[in-house]
Amino acid sequence: MNGDCIFCKIVNGDIPSKKIYEDDEVIVFNDIHPIAPVHFLIVPKQHIESLASCDYSHEELLGKMLVLAPNLAMKHGLKGFRTMINTGSEGGQEVFHLHVHVFGGGTVLPKT
Ligand code: 5GP
Ligand code: ZN
Repeated sequence: MNGDCIFCKIVNGDIPSKKIYEDDEVIVFNDIHPIAPVHFLIVPKQHIESLASCDYSHEELLGKMLVLAPNLAMKHGLKGFRTMINTGSEGGQEVFHLHVHVFGGGTVLPKT
């Protein structure tokens, strides 16, 4: 737990979120500023700053997060979706607690 981290506060229940899945390692909630009709974030409960902080000890957790993406996307009626992991400020990351964006719905997403 990182006291200054907004996603740690969501994990702890100190900040409310629209939770769509939870287990002992992972929480999934809707993005507060969705960029598509369906847009959720897959977040490890453990505070990991970014994908760049991961090593082989995180293999299982990362695998679980990726397998959850199609599972939850299909449950939300998506036939296709996009995943995005922004890493570091230069990669567009704004919240420095690892998360996988999953979004889609409506129209075919642009290539970039
Ligand atoms: P990043 O740019 O770090 O990849 O994405 C951070 C995402 O977290 C953004 O899409 C932003 O809308 C979302 N976000 C930031 N603060 C909150 C919050 O308090 N609650 C929720 N549900 N999403 C948040
Ligand atoms: Zn955190």
